[in-house]
Amino acid sequence: MSKLYIFLGPPGAGKGTQASQIAKSFNLEHISTGEMLREHVNNKTELGNKAKNLLDEGLLVPDELVISMLIERLSNNDSKKGAILDGFPRTMGQAKSLEEISDQYPIVKVFVFEADTEELVKRILLRGEASGRSDDTEDSIKVRLEVYNSDTAPLVKYYQDKKIVSTVNAIGEIQDIYSSIAMHFKN
Ligand code: AMP
Repeated sequence: MSKLYIFLGPPGAGKGTQASQIAKSFNLEHISTGEMLREHVNNKTELGNKAKNLLDEGLLVPDELVISMLIERLSNNDSKKGAILDGFPRTMGQAKSLEEISDQYPIVKVFVFEADTEELVKRILLRGEASGRSDDTEDSIKVRLEVYNSDTAPLVKYYQDKKIVSTVNAIGEIQDIYSSIAMHFKN
C-alpha cells in the first residue's frame, strides 16, 4: 500500500516547486504527469508524438493515455514509498480512475493551491522566459487557465465532499508556502 498526496491547482501556482521540496523532505516520490509527458515529447515516443501539439496548445492529453501512464508509473514505485501526484488528476475521469485503485493507493490528502489569475499569468510568463517551456506562452496560458476552470476546478468540490482537502495560499514566499504544507506531514 502506498499513500498518495495530491497537489491540485491552476497552472503557475507553484505545485511543482513545492512538490519537489516536500517529496525530498518526507521521502516521497514526486510524480509529475506534465514532466513525464514532456519527457515523452523529447524522446519522441509514440505517446509523446500524440501529446506534443496538445501540450503546446495548453489542452489536456486524453484521459486514457494519461491514466495508463500514471498507473504504470505507480506500479513501478517499487520501494512502496508514498507519492505526491503533481498535476494528476485533472479531470473527473482521472479522479474516478484513482478511486478504483484506492485500496492499494489511498489518497491521504489533497492540497488545493489558490492564487489569483493575474499573479498566475505573471508567474508563468516569467517561468517561460527562464525555462523555455514551449507551452508558457500567452495563448497557451489562456487556454490552460480555461481548461483548469472547466475540467479540473470541479475536483475541488469532489475532494471537499470527501473531507480530505487542505487549501494552500499560493501567494507569498516559497519558504512560507512550504511550511504551510509541511506542517501536514510527519517525518
Ligand atoms: P503541467 O506540467 O502539470 O503544467 O502539465 C503540462 C501539460 O501536460 C498540460 O497543459 C497538459 O497538456 C499535459 N498534462 C499534464 N498532466 C495532465 C493530466 N493529468 N491530464 C491531461 N493532460 C495533462
